[in-house]
Amino acid sequence: MNASLNKNDTTVTQVKLLINGEWVDSKTREWLEVVNPASQEVLAKVPLATPEEVKAAIDSAERAFHSWKKTPIGARMRIMLKLQALIREHSKRIAAVLSAEQGKTLADAEGDIFRGLEVVEHACSIGSLQMGEFAENVAGGVDTYTLRQPIGVCAGITPFNFPAMIPLWMFPMAIVTGNTFVLKPSEQDPLSTMMLVELGLEAGIPAGVLNVVHGAKEVVDALCTHPDIKAISFVGSTHVGTHVYNLGSQHGKRVQSMMGAKNHAVVLPDANREHTLNALVGAGFGAAGQRCMATSVVVLVGEARTWLPDIKELALKLRVNAGSEPGTDIGPVISKRARQRILDLIDSGVHQGAKLELDGRDIKVPGYENGNFIGPTLFSGVTTEMDIYTQEIFGPVLVVLEVRTLDDAIALVNANPFGNGVGLFTQSGAAARKFQSEIDVGQVGINIPIPVPVPAFSFTGSRGSKLGDLGPYGKQVVQFYTQTKTVTSRWFDDSTVNDGVNTTITLK
Ligand code: NAD
Repeated sequence: MNASLNKNDTTVTQVKLLINGEWVDSKTREWLEVVNPASQEVLAKVPLATPEEVKAAIDSAERAFHSWKKTPIGARMRIMLKLQALIREHSKRIAAVLSAEQGKTLADAEGDIFRGLEVVEHACSIGSLQMGEFAENVAGGVDTYTLRQPIGVCAGITPFNFPAMIPLWMFPMAIVTGNTFVLKPSEQDPLSTMMLVELGLEAGIPAGVLNVVHGAKEVVDALCTHPDIKAISFVGSTHVGTHVYNLGSQHGKRVQSMMGAKNHAVVLPDANREHTLNALVGAGFGAAGQRCMATSVVVLVGEARTWLPDIKELALKLRVNAGSEPGTDIGPVISKRARQRILDLIDSGVHQGAKLELDGRDIKVPGYENGNFIGPTLFSGVTTEMDIYTQEIFGPVLVVLEVRTLDDAIALVNANPFGNGVGLFTQSGAAARKFQSEIDVGQVGINIPIPVPVPAFSFTGSRGSKLGDLGPYGKQVVQFYTQTKTVTSRWFDDSTVNDGVNTTITLK
């Protein structure tokens, strides 16, 4: 399983494009390196596809759409059944590649694949998910029903932090609903994504139905402006997601843009202490804080302020090492650039007056001295004007604020620019009920630190975390990838009474 790579004629593996069912060597002169963030080994080179190659991928998807949209729903579903079996079979091998290119631990890499696999399993229910509605006798002898038809060529643009889960949020649901797809994986870690695409072909996705182009801004902009692309699914930062949403919308496309985050965990003094502390530290520092649903802010309410030393003590026990090493809790961050940005933000926190309780800036990992590591970093005394509070840090940095009441905590969370995930830790049902009703955040966890919904529901978000009204997976994504057509019909038999010319708009 390495058709998407070319090892023959170069010392460094080159990642291929997938156009019309063929693995294509890009003709571009611009290549980026895919680097192991722990060891700095160059794992592969990824092309920035040329405009002609992007166009060829879209043309191939457009041609394939005409036959694929007519493929029986059961045939499409059976491909997804095969795909889920293949992903299970190859999960460990994909996880090893994912961990090497992204940096996360092997267990977390398997989790990344598993959460995507659940969406493929969900795609296997398409027979009922894509059903229309039917109302008999809406007027005498008249029936109305709806068809949910595919819309055409769709595109997906994915981030580096979940190179398995997020591509699997997109292409299986787009394809199983009868569309064709052009995927643009993250240029920072495309290797595991490509393994999943290979499995898609092995499962029976026909030529042209799934295409892959690699690249960065130019390629994304080409997808957002091409007239044959009907819908764009984007996941990534708020800055880029807003650009993609605006550009795609200006060019008449449906766009769902899932973006950045600053996820608060609100802790009431009656919370279960041990479970809560474990949840805060696991969700704050796991995956090196590079999850869109990572807990990045802890809000201690009232007497819960006394819990700060416990958070610190637990965070100190976390082991920082390469994701491939046994026992690792925190792997490296994705790139030297990302590391520097995180270090700059930590410096800003110090300069702006927050108290650095734990400082992960100078950590050294034996055997991986050049790795992009940052140790668990904890700030207390944080205020809402500080950059470490207003900006998404996307690293193993947890900031702690204190407020007096639950109302203060709700007001604080609702005033933050992001609205991706939030958690409340309490034993009070009344407090939980008030919180879930008044909080303006897409994913709410009650004593759950990373409340990513399972695929029967839809991922969502509010304010700076999401643009577009329909989210990935669940029922919403079926709506996103289909056009509803309403048919109103009447059939006459010989006994139907002729009711003459009707000049009103009323159906009888
Ligand atoms: P990113 O925005 O830098 O990149 C995302 C995609 O956009 C990549 O494929 C990249 O090639 C492309 N891109 C980058 N710069 C671009 C530009 N100027 N114009 C057009 N396209 C461009 O995001 P990332 O660093 O890969 O991922 C981390 C971000 O993703 C975080 O902000 C995280 O919160 C967010 N994220 C959100 C969710 C969610 O569901 N809300 C899930 C995962 C990650």
